[in-house]
Amino acid sequence: MNQRGPPQTIFINNEWHDAVSKKTFPTINPATGEVICQVAEGDKADVDKAVKAARAAFQLGSPWRRMDASHRGKLLNRLADLIERDRAYLAALETLDNGKPYSIAYLVDLDMVVKCLRYFAGWSDKFHGKTIPLDGDFFCYTRHEPVGVCGQIIPWNFPLLMQAWKLGPALATGNVVVMKVAEQTPLSALYVANLIKEAGFPPGVVNIIPGYGPTAGAAISAHMDVDKVAFTGSTEVGHLIKKAAAESNLKRVTLELGGKSPNIIMSDADMDWAVDQAHFALFFNQGQCCCAGSRTYVQEDIYNEFVERSVEKAKSRVVGNPFDFKTEQGPQVDEEQFKKILGYISTGKREGAKLLCGGNPAADRGYFVQPTVFGDVQDNMTIAREEIFGPVMQIMKFKTIEEIIERANNSKYGLAAAVFTKDIDKANYVSQALRAGTVWVNCYNVFGAQAPFGGYKASGNGRELGEYGLEAYLEVKNVTIKIPQKNS
Ligand code: NAD
Ligand code: MG
Repeated sequence: MNQRGPPQTIFINNEWHDAVSKKTFPTINPATGEVICQVAEGDKADVDKAVKAARAAFQLGSPWRRMDASHRGKLLNRLADLIERDRAYLAALETLDNGKPYSIAYLVDLDMVVKCLRYFAGWSDKFHGKTIPLDGDFFCYTRHEPVGVCGQIIPWNFPLLMQAWKLGPALATGNVVVMKVAEQTPLSALYVANLIKEAGFPPGVVNIIPGYGPTAGAAISAHMDVDKVAFTGSTEVGHLIKKAAAESNLKRVTLELGGKSPNIIMSDADMDWAVDQAHFALFFNQGQCCCAGSRTYVQEDIYNEFVERSVEKAKSRVVGNPFDFKTEQGPQVDEEQFKKILGYISTGKREGAKLLCGGNPAADRGYFVQPTVFGDVQDNMTIAREEIFGPVMQIMKFKTIEEIIERANNSKYGLAAAVFTKDIDKANYVSQALRAGTVWVNCYNVFGAQAPFGGYKASGNGRELGEYGLEAYLEVKNVTIKIPQKNS
Protein backbone atom coordinates (compact mmCIF):
# COMPACT_ATOMS: atom_id res chain seq x y z
CA MET A 1 0.00 0.00 0.00
CA ASN A 2 1.13 3.54 -0.74
CA GLN A 3 1.98 5.04 2.66
CA ARG A 4 2.76 8.50 1.32
CA GLY A 5 -0.84 9.47 0.67
CA PRO A 6 -2.60 9.66 -2.63
CA PRO A 7 -0.89 11.18 -5.67
CA GLN A 8 -1.93 14.79 -6.25
CA THR A 9 -0.65 15.50 -9.75
CA ILE A 10 -1.41 14.56 -13.35
CA PHE A 11 -0.83 11.04 -14.68
CA ILE A 12 0.50 10.99 -18.23
CA ASN A 13 2.65 8.26 -19.80
CA ASN A 14 2.79 6.36 -16.48
CA GLU A 15 4.52 9.36 -14.88
CA TRP A 16 3.39 12.15 -12.52
CA HIS A 17 3.40 15.74 -13.77
CA ASP A 18 2.56 19.14 -12.32
CA ALA A 19 0.07 21.13 -14.38
CA VAL A 20 1.73 23.01 -17.25
CA SER A 21 0.30 26.18 -15.66
CA LYS A 22 1.66 25.05 -12.25
CA LYS A 23 -1.81 25.80 -10.86
CA THR A 24 -3.43 23.71 -8.11
CA PHE A 25 -6.88 23.55 -6.57
CA PRO A 26 -8.07 22.36 -3.17
CA THR A 27 -10.06 19.19 -2.64
CA ILE A 28 -12.33 19.34 0.38
CA ASN A 29 -13.58 16.93 3.02
CA PRO A 30 -17.36 17.49 2.86
CA ALA A 31 -17.87 16.21 6.40
CA THR A 32 -15.92 19.20 7.78
CA GLY A 33 -15.53 21.68 4.94
CA GLU A 34 -11.75 21.53 5.45
CA VAL A 35 -9.14 21.28 2.70
CA ILE A 36 -7.63 17.78 2.41
CA CYS A 37 -4.84 18.76 0.04
CA GLN A 38 -4.03 20.69 -3.12
CA VAL A 39 -4.26 18.88 -6.46
CA ALA A 40 -2.67 19.83 -9.79
CA GLU A 41 -5.20 21.72 -11.91
CA GLY A 42 -5.01 20.33 -15.43
CA ASP A 43 -6.36 22.36 -18.34
CA LYS A 44 -6.09 22.44 -22.13
CA ALA A 45 -2.27 22.30 -22.18
CA ASP A 46 -2.28 19.14 -20.03
CA VAL A 47 -5.06 17.59 -22.09
CA ASP A 48 -2.95 18.20 -25.22
CA LYS A 49 0.01 16.44 -23.58
CA ALA A 50 -2.16 13.52 -22.50
CA VAL A 51 -3.79 13.13 -25.93
CA LYS A 52 -0.31 13.06 -27.56
CA ALA A 53 0.79 10.35 -25.13
CA ALA A 54 -2.38 8.36 -25.73
CA ARG A 55 -2.07 8.69 -29.51
CA ALA A 56 1.54 7.48 -29.37
CA ALA A 57 0.48 4.48 -27.27
CA PHE A 58 -2.15 3.68 -29.91
CA GLN A 59 0.24 3.74 -32.92
CA LEU A 60 0.30 0.56 -34.98
CA GLY A 61 3.12 -1.65 -33.77
CA SER A 62 3.09 -0.15 -30.24
CA PRO A 63 3.26 -2.58 -27.30
CA TRP A 64 -0.45 -1.96 -26.60
CA ARG A 65 -1.56 -2.53 -30.21
CA ARG A 66 0.57 -5.68 -30.48
CA MET A 67 -0.50 -7.07 -27.11
CA ASP A 68 -2.47 -10.31 -27.21
CA ALA A 69 -6.14 -9.69 -26.47
CA SER A 70 -5.98 -12.30 -23.71
CA HIS A 71 -3.10 -10.39 -22.13
CA ARG A 72 -5.18 -7.21 -22.00
CA GLY A 73 -7.66 -9.25 -19.97
CA LYS A 74 -4.84 -10.41 -17.71
CA LEU A 75 -3.79 -6.79 -17.04
CA LEU A 76 -7.37 -5.80 -16.20
CA ASN A 77 -7.58 -8.74 -13.79
CA ARG A 78 -4.27 -7.67 -12.24
CA LEU A 79 -5.65 -4.18 -11.77
CA ALA A 80 -8.67 -5.73 -10.03
CA ASP A 81 -6.28 -7.74 -7.79
CA LEU A 82 -4.38 -4.59 -6.82
CA ILE A 83 -7.59 -2.71 -6.04
CA GLU A 84 -8.63 -5.64 -3.83
CA ARG A 85 -5.24 -5.54 -2.10
CA ASP A 86 -5.65 -1.80 -1.34
CA ARG A 87 -9.40 -1.94 -0.82
CA ALA A 88 -9.46 -0.48 2.71
CA TYR A 89 -7.20 2.40 1.71
CA LEU A 90 -9.25 3.18 -1.39
CA ALA A 91 -12.53 3.03 0.53
CA ALA A 92 -11.12 5.42 3.14
CA LEU A 93 -9.97 7.83 0.45
CA GLU A 94 -13.40 7.69 -1.19
CA THR A 95 -15.10 8.47 2.12
CA LEU A 96 -12.71 11.31 2.94
CA ASP A 97 -13.09 13.02 -0.45
CA ASN A 98 -16.75 12.23 -1.28
CA GLY A 99 -18.38 11.87 2.15
CA LYS A 100 -20.11 8.53 1.53
CA PRO A 101 -20.21 6.16 4.53
CA TYR A 102 -17.05 4.07 4.76
CA SER A 103 -19.01 0.85 5.22
CA ILE A 104 -20.82 1.48 1.91
CA ALA A 105 -17.64 2.53 0.09
CA TYR A 106 -15.88 -0.64 1.28
CA LEU A 107 -18.71 -3.14 0.87
CA VAL A 108 -20.64 -1.76 -2.11
CA ASP A 109 -18.53 0.61 -4.24
CA LEU A 110 -15.27 -1.34 -4.06
CA ASP A 111 -17.04 -4.65 -4.60
CA MET A 112 -18.70 -3.32 -7.75
CA VAL A 113 -15.43 -1.79 -9.00
CA VAL A 114 -13.58 -5.09 -8.76
CA LYS A 115 -16.42 -7.07 -10.31
CA CYS A 116 -16.74 -4.58 -13.17
CA LEU A 117 -13.04 -4.79 -14.05
CA ARG A 118 -13.08 -8.60 -13.88
CA TYR A 119 -16.22 -8.77 -16.02
CA PHE A 120 -14.64 -6.66 -18.78
CA ALA A 121 -11.32 -8.52 -18.41
CA GLY A 122 -13.24 -11.58 -19.55
CA TRP A 123 -14.51 -9.80 -22.67
CA SER A 124 -11.00 -8.87 -23.85
CA ASP A 125 -10.70 -11.85 -26.21
CA LYS A 126 -14.41 -12.47 -26.88
CA PHE A 127 -15.80 -9.60 -28.94
CA HIS A 128 -16.07 -11.46 -32.22
CA GLY A 129 -16.76 -10.16 -35.70
CA LYS A 130 -18.85 -12.06 -38.26
CA THR A 131 -18.46 -13.66 -41.67
CA ILE A 132 -21.06 -12.35 -44.10
CA PRO A 133 -22.64 -14.07 -47.15
CA LEU A 134 -22.11 -11.16 -49.53
CA ASP A 135 -23.45 -11.70 -53.09
CA GLY A 136 -20.67 -12.63 -55.56
CA ASP A 137 -17.31 -14.30 -55.16
CA PHE A 138 -16.16 -12.57 -52.06
CA PHE A 139 -15.04 -13.41 -48.58
CA CYS A 140 -16.60 -10.71 -46.41
CA TYR A 141 -15.98 -10.39 -42.71
CA THR A 142 -16.09 -7.81 -39.94
CA ARG A 143 -13.40 -6.90 -37.45
CA HIS A 144 -14.35 -5.13 -34.24
CA GLU A 145 -11.57 -2.62 -33.73
CA PRO A 146 -10.89 -0.08 -30.95
CA VAL A 147 -12.14 3.44 -31.63
CA GLY A 148 -8.81 4.98 -30.56
CA VAL A 149 -8.25 7.83 -28.12
CA CYS A 150 -11.21 7.89 -25.74
CA GLY A 151 -11.90 10.97 -23.63
CA GLN A 152 -13.74 10.00 -20.45
CA ILE A 153 -15.25 12.64 -18.17
CA ILE A 154 -16.55 11.31 -14.87
CA PRO A 155 -18.64 12.68 -11.98
CA TRP A 156 -18.14 12.73 -8.22
CA ASN A 157 -21.05 10.62 -6.93
CA PHE A 158 -19.29 7.25 -7.43
CA PRO A 159 -15.72 8.29 -8.27
CA LEU A 160 -14.11 4.84 -8.32
CA LEU A 161 -17.09 3.04 -9.80
CA MET A 162 -17.51 5.54 -12.63
CA GLN A 163 -13.80 5.15 -13.34
CA ALA A 164 -14.19 1.36 -13.54
CA TRP A 165 -17.33 1.57 -15.72
CA LYS A 166 -15.35 3.71 -18.17
CA LEU A 167 -11.95 1.97 -18.07
CA GLY A 168 -13.27 -1.61 -18.17
CA PRO A 169 -14.87 -1.62 -21.64
CA ALA A 170 -12.36 0.87 -23.13
CA LEU A 171 -9.31 -1.18 -22.17
CA ALA A 172 -10.83 -4.61 -22.80
CA THR A 173 -11.38 -3.55 -26.41
CA GLY A 174 -7.87 -2.11 -26.85
CA ASN A 175 -8.53 1.64 -26.69
CA VAL A 176 -6.40 4.29 -25.01
CA VAL A 177 -7.82 6.74 -22.49
CA VAL A 178 -7.60 10.36 -21.40
CA MET A 179 -9.78 10.62 -18.30
CA LYS A 180 -10.83 13.76 -16.48
CA VAL A 181 -11.88 13.09 -12.91
CA ALA A 182 -14.38 15.30 -11.10
CA GLU A 183 -12.89 18.33 -9.35
CA GLN A 184 -14.78 17.46 -6.14
CA THR A 185 -13.31 13.95 -5.84
CA PRO A 186 -9.97 13.46 -7.60
CA LEU A 187 -8.07 11.43 -5.00
CA SER A 188 -9.23 7.83 -5.33
CA ALA A 189 -9.03 7.76 -9.13
CA LEU A 190 -5.49 9.19 -8.98
CA TYR A 191 -4.48 6.47 -6.53
CA VAL A 192 -5.77 3.91 -9.04
CA ALA A 193 -3.45 5.46 -11.64
CA ASN A 194 -0.49 4.11 -9.66
CA LEU A 195 -2.12 0.69 -9.66
CA ILE A 196 -2.62 0.89 -13.44
CA LYS A 197 1.13 1.37 -13.78
CA GLU A 198 1.84 -1.41 -11.26
CA ALA A 199 -0.48 -3.78 -13.16
CA GLY A 200 1.75 -3.37 -16.22
CA PHE A 201 -0.29 -1.26 -18.65
CA PRO A 202 2.16 0.36 -21.10
CA PRO A 203 2.84 4.12 -20.79
CA GLY A 204 0.22 6.34 -22.41
CA VAL A 205 -2.59 3.76 -22.40
CA VAL A 206 -4.33 5.47 -19.49
CA ASN A 207 -3.82 9.15 -18.66
CA ILE A 208 -5.68 10.82 -15.81
CA ILE A 209 -6.18 14.55 -15.38
CA PRO A 210 -7.72 16.27 -12.37
CA GLY A 211 -9.19 19.67 -13.22
CA TYR A 212 -12.36 21.64 -13.87
CA GLY A 213 -15.07 21.02 -16.44
CA PRO A 214 -15.08 24.24 -18.48
CA THR A 215 -11.28 24.03 -18.90
CA ALA A 216 -9.95 20.44 -18.84
CA GLY A 217 -13.31 18.79 -19.62
CA ALA A 218 -14.12 21.14 -22.47
CA ALA A 219 -10.62 20.66 -23.92
CA ILE A 220 -11.33 16.92 -24.19
CA SER A 221 -14.75 17.26 -25.79
CA ALA A 222 -13.50 19.83 -28.34
CA HIS A 223 -10.19 18.09 -29.09
CA MET A 224 -9.50 17.34 -32.76
CA ASP A 225 -7.50 14.20 -31.96
CA VAL A 226 -9.89 12.56 -29.50
CA ASP A 227 -11.94 9.89 -31.28
CA LYS A 228 -14.66 9.40 -28.72
CA VAL A 229 -15.94 11.00 -25.55
CA ALA A 230 -17.86 9.23 -22.81
CA PHE A 231 -19.47 11.48 -20.22
CA THR A 232 -21.44 10.96 -17.03
CA GLY A 233 -22.92 13.99 -15.28
CA SER A 234 -25.56 16.65 -15.67
CA THR A 235 -27.86 16.96 -18.68
CA GLU A 236 -26.79 20.57 -19.00
CA VAL A 237 -23.16 19.59 -19.57
CA GLY A 238 -24.29 16.69 -21.79
CA HIS A 239 -25.61 19.29 -24.24
CA LEU A 240 -22.24 21.10 -24.19
CA ILE A 241 -20.31 17.89 -24.85
CA LYS A 242 -22.43 16.96 -27.86
CA LYS A 243 -22.15 20.48 -29.22
CA ALA A 244 -18.36 20.47 -28.81
CA ALA A 245 -18.17 17.13 -30.62
CA ALA A 246 -20.35 18.47 -33.44
CA GLU A 247 -18.25 21.62 -33.80
CA SER A 248 -14.88 19.84 -33.71
CA ASN A 249 -14.23 16.45 -35.33
CA LEU A 250 -17.61 14.68 -34.91
CA LYS A 251 -16.09 12.39 -32.31
CA ARG A 252 -18.36 9.61 -31.09
CA VAL A 253 -20.34 10.59 -27.99
CA THR A 254 -21.95 8.53 -25.26
CA LEU A 255 -23.77 10.28 -22.46
CA GLU A 256 -25.10 9.06 -19.13
CA LEU A 257 -27.08 11.99 -17.72
CA GLY A 258 -29.68 12.85 -15.19
CA GLY A 259 -33.05 11.41 -14.35
CA LYS A 260 -36.28 11.90 -12.44
CA SER A 261 -37.15 8.27 -12.14
CA PRO A 262 -40.71 7.19 -11.26
CA ASN A 263 -41.13 4.55 -8.59
CA ILE A 264 -44.70 3.21 -8.76
CA ILE A 265 -46.20 1.52 -5.71
CA MET A 266 -49.44 -0.38 -6.48
CA SER A 267 -51.94 -0.99 -3.71
CA ASP A 268 -51.31 -4.76 -3.84
CA ALA A 269 -47.55 -4.37 -3.15
CA ASP A 270 -45.90 -5.85 -0.06
CA MET A 271 -46.10 -2.73 2.13
CA ASP A 272 -43.02 -3.38 4.31
CA TRP A 273 -40.82 -4.11 1.34
CA ALA A 274 -42.16 -1.24 -0.76
CA VAL A 275 -41.56 1.32 2.01
CA ASP A 276 -38.07 -0.05 2.57
CA GLN A 277 -37.15 -0.06 -1.13
CA ALA A 278 -38.67 3.35 -1.89
CA HIS A 279 -36.53 4.75 0.93
CA PHE A 280 -33.42 3.02 -0.46
CA ALA A 281 -34.32 4.14 -4.01
CA LEU A 282 -34.21 7.79 -2.98
CA PHE A 283 -31.83 8.10 -0.02
CA PHE A 284 -29.01 5.78 -1.10
CA ASN A 285 -25.70 7.64 -1.56
CA GLN A 286 -27.11 10.80 0.09
CA GLY A 287 -29.66 10.92 -2.75
CA GLN A 288 -26.83 11.54 -5.20
CA CYS A 289 -27.74 8.89 -7.78
CA CYS A 290 -28.64 9.57 -11.40
CA CYS A 291 -31.23 6.77 -11.17
CA ALA A 292 -32.69 7.84 -7.80
CA GLY A 293 -36.37 6.97 -7.45
CA SER A 294 -37.24 10.62 -7.04
CA ARG A 295 -40.90 10.52 -8.05
CA THR A 296 -42.56 8.11 -5.64
CA TYR A 297 -46.09 7.43 -6.94
CA VAL A 298 -48.40 5.64 -4.52
CA GLN A 299 -51.86 4.25 -5.32
CA GLU A 300 -54.57 6.16 -3.46
CA ASP A 301 -55.92 3.42 -1.15
CA ILE A 302 -52.51 2.84 0.49
CA TYR A 303 -51.24 6.43 0.18
CA ASN A 304 -51.77 7.55 3.79
CA GLU A 305 -50.17 4.50 5.37
CA PHE A 306 -47.29 4.56 2.91
CA VAL A 307 -46.56 8.24 3.58
CA GLU A 308 -46.71 7.79 7.34
CA ARG A 309 -44.31 4.86 7.28
CA SER A 310 -41.95 6.57 4.83
CA VAL A 311 -41.73 9.58 7.15
CA GLU A 312 -40.99 7.29 10.12
CA LYS A 313 -38.26 5.59 8.16
CA ALA A 314 -36.70 8.86 7.00
CA LYS A 315 -36.71 10.18 10.58
CA SER A 316 -34.84 7.10 11.78
CA ARG A 317 -32.07 7.40 9.15
CA VAL A 318 -28.70 7.82 10.86
CA VAL A 319 -26.88 10.90 9.57
CA GLY A 320 -23.37 11.71 10.71
CA ASN A 321 -19.64 11.05 10.55
CA PRO A 322 -19.18 8.86 7.48
CA PHE A 323 -16.37 6.91 9.17
CA ASP A 324 -18.76 5.77 11.93
CA PHE A 325 -20.12 2.30 11.14
CA LYS A 326 -23.61 3.27 12.36
CA THR A 327 -23.87 6.07 9.81
CA GLU A 328 -26.28 5.55 6.92
CA GLN A 329 -26.00 9.02 5.43
CA GLY A 330 -22.93 11.25 5.18
CA PRO A 331 -22.63 14.82 3.90
CA GLN A 332 -23.49 15.99 0.38
CA VAL A 333 -20.42 16.22 -1.81
CA ASP A 334 -19.86 19.97 -1.60
CA GLU A 335 -21.26 23.35 -0.63
CA GLU A 336 -22.73 23.94 -4.10
CA GLN A 337 -24.82 20.76 -3.97
CA PHE A 338 -25.76 21.42 -0.32
CA LYS A 339 -27.08 24.89 -1.18
CA LYS A 340 -28.81 23.67 -4.31
CA ILE A 341 -30.69 21.01 -2.32
CA LEU A 342 -31.76 23.47 0.39
CA GLY A 343 -32.92 25.77 -2.41
CA TYR A 344 -35.13 23.00 -3.84
CA ILE A 345 -36.59 22.39 -0.37
CA SER A 346 -37.59 26.08 -0.12
CA THR A 347 -39.09 25.93 -3.61
CA GLY A 348 -41.07 22.81 -2.66
CA LYS A 349 -42.54 24.59 0.38
CA ARG A 350 -43.25 27.74 -1.61
CA GLU A 351 -45.05 25.82 -4.35
CA GLY A 352 -47.33 24.17 -1.80
CA ALA A 353 -45.88 20.68 -1.25
CA LYS A 354 -46.30 19.44 2.33
CA LEU A 355 -43.00 19.17 4.20
CA LEU A 356 -43.45 16.10 6.41
CA CYS A 357 -39.97 15.80 7.92
CA GLY A 358 -36.46 17.22 7.60
CA GLY A 359 -35.88 20.26 5.45
CA ASN A 360 -32.81 21.71 7.20
CA PRO A 361 -29.06 21.26 7.49
CA ALA A 362 -28.32 18.32 9.78
CA ALA A 363 -25.15 19.64 11.45
CA ASP A 364 -23.32 22.84 12.34
CA ARG A 365 -20.47 22.14 9.97
CA GLY A 366 -20.00 20.06 6.85
CA TYR A 367 -22.63 19.67 4.15
CA PHE A 368 -25.19 17.46 5.93
CA VAL A 369 -28.88 17.65 4.98
CA GLN A 370 -31.70 16.12 7.04
CA PRO A 371 -33.55 13.27 5.33
CA THR A 372 -36.54 15.13 3.94
CA VAL A 373 -39.97 13.93 2.80
CA PHE A 374 -42.58 15.93 0.91
CA GLY A 375 -46.17 14.71 0.59
CA ASP A 376 -49.06 15.99 -1.55
CA VAL A 377 -46.62 16.74 -4.34
CA GLN A 378 -48.15 17.65 -7.74
CA ASP A 379 -46.53 16.68 -11.05
CA ASN A 380 -46.08 20.28 -12.17
CA MET A 381 -44.11 21.36 -9.08
CA THR A 382 -40.41 22.06 -9.55
CA ILE A 383 -39.42 19.34 -7.05
CA ALA A 384 -41.39 16.79 -9.11
CA ARG A 385 -39.73 17.77 -12.39
CA GLU A 386 -36.09 18.64 -11.69
CA GLU A 387 -33.26 16.48 -10.45
CA ILE A 388 -32.56 17.44 -6.82
CA PHE A 389 -29.67 15.01 -6.29
CA GLY A 390 -30.12 15.02 -2.54
CA PRO A 391 -31.98 13.30 0.33
CA VAL A 392 -35.38 14.76 -0.57
CA MET A 393 -38.31 12.44 -1.29
CA GLN A 394 -41.40 13.48 -3.27
CA ILE A 395 -44.54 11.38 -2.75
CA MET A 396 -47.45 11.67 -5.17
CA LYS A 397 -50.84 9.95 -5.34
CA PHE A 398 -52.39 8.10 -8.30
CA LYS A 399 -55.62 6.22 -9.05
CA THR A 400 -55.33 3.98 -12.13
CA ILE A 401 -52.67 2.14 -14.09
CA GLU A 402 -53.36 3.98 -17.35
CA GLU A 403 -53.10 7.30 -15.53
CA ILE A 404 -49.82 6.41 -13.85
CA ILE A 405 -48.15 5.20 -17.02
CA GLU A 406 -48.89 8.50 -18.69
CA ARG A 407 -47.73 10.55 -15.72
CA ALA A 408 -44.59 8.45 -15.21
CA ASN A 409 -43.61 8.95 -18.85
CA ASN A 410 -44.36 12.65 -18.77
CA SER A 411 -40.77 13.72 -18.11
CA LYS A 412 -37.88 14.83 -20.28
CA TYR A 413 -35.88 12.05 -18.64
CA GLY A 414 -35.98 8.28 -19.08
CA LEU A 415 -33.19 6.72 -17.08
CA ALA A 416 -34.83 4.28 -14.68
CA ALA A 417 -38.23 3.34 -13.29
CA ALA A 418 -39.70 0.80 -10.90
CA VAL A 419 -42.99 -0.82 -10.09
CA PHE A 420 -44.00 -2.63 -6.91
CA THR A 421 -46.88 -5.11 -7.25
CA LYS A 422 -47.64 -8.75 -6.53
CA ASP A 423 -49.58 -9.07 -9.80
CA ILE A 424 -47.37 -10.38 -12.63
CA ASP A 425 -49.75 -9.05 -15.29
CA LYS A 426 -49.56 -5.53 -13.91
CA ALA A 427 -45.77 -5.83 -13.60
CA ASN A 428 -45.42 -6.90 -17.24
CA TYR A 429 -47.87 -4.35 -18.55
CA VAL A 430 -46.27 -1.42 -16.74
CA SER A 431 -42.68 -2.43 -17.42
CA GLN A 432 -43.23 -2.60 -21.19
CA ALA A 433 -45.05 0.76 -21.16
CA LEU A 434 -42.42 2.76 -19.27
CA ARG A 435 -39.98 4.76 -21.39
CA ALA A 436 -36.79 4.15 -19.42
CA GLY A 437 -33.48 2.35 -19.92
CA THR A 438 -33.96 0.24 -16.78
CA VAL A 439 -37.18 -0.96 -15.17
CA TRP A 440 -36.95 -2.64 -11.78
CA VAL A 441 -39.87 -4.77 -10.60
CA ASN A 442 -40.19 -5.23 -6.83
CA CYS A 443 -36.62 -4.02 -6.36
CA TYR A 444 -34.51 -0.90 -6.87
CA ASN A 445 -30.87 0.06 -7.55
CA VAL A 446 -29.99 -3.48 -8.62
CA PHE A 447 -26.80 -3.22 -10.65
CA GLY A 448 -24.38 -5.71 -12.11
CA ALA A 449 -21.57 -5.41 -14.61
CA GLN A 450 -23.46 -7.91 -16.80
CA ALA A 451 -26.60 -5.78 -17.36
CA PRO A 452 -26.73 -2.66 -19.56
CA PHE A 453 -27.48 0.74 -18.06
CA GLY A 454 -28.34 4.00 -19.82
CA GLY A 455 -31.09 6.40 -20.69
CA TYR A 456 -33.98 7.05 -23.02
CA LYS A 457 -34.70 10.68 -24.00
CA ALA A 458 -32.65 13.40 -22.26
CA SER A 459 -31.14 10.84 -19.88
CA GLY A 460 -28.45 10.06 -22.41
CA ASN A 461 -27.17 8.20 -25.44
CA GLY A 462 -25.75 4.71 -25.49
CA ARG A 463 -25.43 2.04 -22.85
CA GLU A 464 -22.75 1.19 -20.34
CA LEU A 465 -22.00 -2.25 -18.85
CA GLY A 466 -22.82 -5.67 -20.22
CA GLU A 467 -22.14 -6.80 -23.76
CA TYR A 468 -23.98 -3.68 -24.98
CA GLY A 469 -21.40 -1.56 -23.19
CA LEU A 470 -18.68 -2.73 -25.60
CA GLU A 471 -20.38 -1.20 -28.64
CA ALA A 472 -19.45 2.36 -27.76
CA TYR A 473 -15.76 1.42 -27.76
CA LEU A 474 -15.67 -0.46 -31.06
CA GLU A 475 -15.62 0.47 -34.71
CA VAL A 476 -16.93 -2.18 -37.09
CA LYS A 477 -14.65 -2.71 -40.07
CA ASN A 478 -15.93 -4.58 -43.10
CA VAL A 479 -13.18 -6.39 -45.03
CA THR A 480 -14.19 -7.78 -48.44
CA ILE A 481 -11.79 -10.02 -50.37
CA LYS A 482 -12.19 -11.23 -53.95
CA ILE A 483 -12.05 -15.02 -54.12
CA PRO A 484 -10.48 -16.27 -57.38
CA GLN A 485 -12.70 -18.88 -59.07
CA LYS A 486 -9.85 -20.86 -60.55
CA ASN A 487 -6.60 -21.47 -58.86
CA SER A 488 -4.01 -22.61 -61.33
P1 NAD B 1 -21.40 18.33 -14.01
O1 NAD B 1 -22.14 17.72 -15.13
O2 NAD B 1 -21.02 19.77 -14.10
O3 NAD B 1 -20.02 17.51 -13.78
C1 NAD B 1 -19.74 16.19 -14.19
C2 NAD B 1 -18.36 16.14 -14.84
O4 NAD B 1 -18.37 16.97 -16.01
C3 NAD B 1 -17.23 16.69 -13.97
O5 NAD B 1 -16.06 15.96 -14.21
C4 NAD B 1 -17.10 18.11 -14.47
O6 NAD B 1 -15.83 18.68 -14.23
C5 NAD B 1 -17.33 17.92 -15.96
N1 NAD B 1 -17.74 19.14 -16.67
C6 NAD B 1 -18.41 20.22 -16.18
N2 NAD B 1 -18.57 21.15 -17.15
C7 NAD B 1 -17.99 20.65 -18.27
C8 NAD B 1 -17.82 21.14 -19.60
N3 NAD B 1 -18.26 22.34 -19.95
N4 NAD B 1 -17.20 20.35 -20.49
C9 NAD B 1 -16.74 19.14 -20.16
N5 NAD B 1 -16.85 18.62 -18.92
C10 NAD B 1 -17.47 19.37 -17.98
O7 NAD B 1 -22.16 18.07 -12.69
P2 NAD B 1 -22.07 18.90 -11.30
O8 NAD B 1 -21.99 20.37 -11.58
O9 NAD B 1 -20.98 18.32 -10.50
O10 NAD B 1 -23.47 18.54 -10.67
C11 NAD B 1 -24.63 19.22 -11.15
C12 NAD B 1 -25.79 18.27 -11.26
O11 NAD B 1 -25.51 17.27 -12.22
C13 NAD B 1 -26.13 17.51 -9.99
O12 NAD B 1 -26.88 18.25 -9.12
C14 NAD B 1 -26.86 16.34 -10.55
O13 NAD B 1 -28.19 16.70 -10.78
C15 NAD B 1 -26.16 16.07 -11.87
N6 NAD B 1 -25.17 14.98 -11.79
C16 NAD B 1 -25.48 13.79 -12.35
C17 NAD B 1 -24.61 12.72 -12.24
C18 NAD B 1 -24.93 11.38 -12.83
O14 NAD B 1 -24.49 10.39 -12.31
N7 NAD B 1 -25.66 11.32 -13.94
C19 NAD B 1 -23.39 12.87 -11.57
C20 NAD B 1 -23.07 14.13 -11.05
C21 NAD B 1 -23.98 15.17 -11.16
MG1 MG C 1 -21.08 21.72 -12.88
